[in-house]
Amino acid sequence: TVGLRDVSKVFPDGTVAVDGVNLDIGNGEFMVLLGPSGCGKSTILRMIAGLEDPSIGEVLLDGEPAATLTPRERGVAMVFQDFALYPHMSVGDNIGFPLKVSGQANREDQVSEVAGALGIGDVLARRPGQLSGGQRQRVAMGRAIVRRPRLFLMDEPLSNLDSQLRGELRAEISSLVRELGVTCVYVTHDQAEALTMADRVAILRRGVLQDVGTPTDVYGRPATLYVAAFLGSPR
Ligand code: ATP
Ligand code: MG
Repeated sequence: TVGLRDVSKVFPDGTVAVDGVNLDIGNGEFMVLLGPSGCGKSTILRMIAGLEDPSIGEVLLDGEPAATLTPRERGVAMVFQDFALYPHMSVGDNIGFPLKVSGQANREDQVSEVAGALGIGDVLARRPGQLSGGQRQRVAMGRAIVRRPRLFLMDEPLSNLDSQLRGELRAEISSLVRELGVTCVYVTHDQAEALTMADRVAILRRGVLQDVGTPTDVYGRPATLYVAAFLGSPR
């Protein structure tokens, strides 16, 4: 589980990026953080990942303050929009790299299982430069998830892809994440993406949490006019 307790983030220049957010994410839940550019989505994700400390409040991972955990204990994997693969390594070695670093055995089995689930099992011998954009994004996902993190964080992972690929990958990511049963926090500014992928959606405006609920709840019973307008809910 992930718990945000009264979390605020004020940057040194005075920018209040996140303002008093309380949010609980259950084990195995697919939570989407949704809101316009600058509303604080990435900052929240970075605080959950331990890349940034809250100015006020705390982040709990399975009830323990994240700040007291080592990166290994946190067990967080993250995929960004502008993910970077190792260009000189094969696809298989890219996916298996985190296993190699942590000295795990049976790497090939784990790599082919994850690659198969992502539909890139037939390109493991290629280099990233010989892949399409969508395939590269799948490799980045595979590399992040191969160690079975307890928490999988994704920051707009599909925003550089065309709309057809986005649609395909949405469905694939949802099913992969649910198959693995991993807890997932997914950031997007795309309403359709949020509503189709999420178990629950958390909607932000200028660092403040506006509404949290299932796609049906937030779309059908938006908490504020802002949420209704942002989701395009019927009036
Ligand atoms: P986008 O959809 O554009 O990625 P976002 O919702 O992810 O936006 P954040 O990156 O979390 O937004 O930024 C939230 C606010 O904090 C913005 O006003 C941003 O300019 C500001 N901000 C982010 N990082 C810093 C920083 N290091 N120093 C000062 N302000 C920052
Ligand atoms: Mg962002």
